[in-house]
Amino acid sequence: MRDDLQNLIANTDVFLLDMDGTIYLDSTPIGDMVSTLDSIRRAGKKIVYFTNNSSKTVDEYREKLTRIGFWRDEDIIYTSGMASIWYLRKYHADSRVYLLGTDALKRSYVDSGIHLVEDDADVAVLAYDTSLTFAKIKRFNEMLVKGARYISTHPDLVCPTDDIFMPDVGSFIKMFEASSGRTPEVIIGKPYTYMGEMILDQLAVETSRVTMVGDRLYTDVKFGLNCGFNSVLVLSGETTMDDYRESGIEATLVLDSLNDVAKYL
Ligand SMILES: [Mg+2]
Repeated sequence: MRDDLQNLIANTDVFLLDMDGTIYLDSTPIGDMVSTLDSIRRAGKKIVYFTNNSSKTVDEYREKLTRIGFWRDEDIIYTSGMASIWYLRKYHADSRVYLLGTDALKRSYVDSGIHLVEDDADVAVLAYDTSLTFAKIKRFNEMLVKGARYISTHPDLVCPTDDIFMPDVGSFIKMFEASSGRTPEVIIGKPYTYMGEMILDQLAVETSRVTMVGDRLYTDVKFGLNCGFNSVLVLSGETTMDDYRESGIEATLVLDSLNDVAKYL
C-alpha cells in the first residue's frame, strides 16, 4: 500500500503528462498505458499531454495519439509552440514578430492573429524548425543583432529518437549565442513556468491540484517544482534511480511508470 501515491491521486484534478519516456517510447505504449489513461479519466481527472516540442502542431500530436489508441476527445494537448502563441498574445499583443519555425507553426501563428514579419521585428521567436535553412539562420541572427526581443520556445539540447538524438532548440541557442552574443530573454517551455501559468489561466484549476508527470529531471520534474505543482518522476524513460539520487532534485514522488497510478484508481 502506498499512502503517498493514494494521497497524490486524491489531491490531483489535472495530470500534465510528458509524452516520450512517460506514456510511450518512440511510438510504443509503455505497458498497458491505454487502460491506465482510461482509469485516470474514469476517476474524473483531466489528462493534458504536455510537450516542449514546437515542431509539431496540436493536430499532428492528436493524430499520433489517436494512432496509438491514447486519444479521447476530452483530453487536451499543450505544446511549447502553442504556449508561445498564448505568451505573445498576452505580453506582446501589438508586436511585429519574426518566427524561426516550421510552416505548420507559422500557420498556427497567423490563425491566432499574430503579426508575422520578415523585417524589422520587435520580437524574434526561436522554435524547433525541422526545415531550417542557412537563409533562415542568417535572417534570425540579423534580428538578434538589431535588438529584437529574443524568445525561445524551449531549452532542450537534443530531441530523442530511436537512433542518434537530433539537435534541438537548445543547440541552436548556443549557435546564435556564438554569432550574436545574445541568449533568450524568455524561454517558454519546461522547466520555465510560462506553460504552468497558461494551464492555470486556461483550465481554472488550483496550483495544488495539478500534477506534472515526466521522465526528465531537469525539464519535467523541475518544471513541476518551479510551478508549485506536484511533480512526479517516472523511471520509464531516460532517468535511472541512481541519476535521481545524484541530482539533488526532490520530486513529490518517484514511480516505476505512470501505470503504478492505475493500481490506486
Ligand atoms: Mg520525456
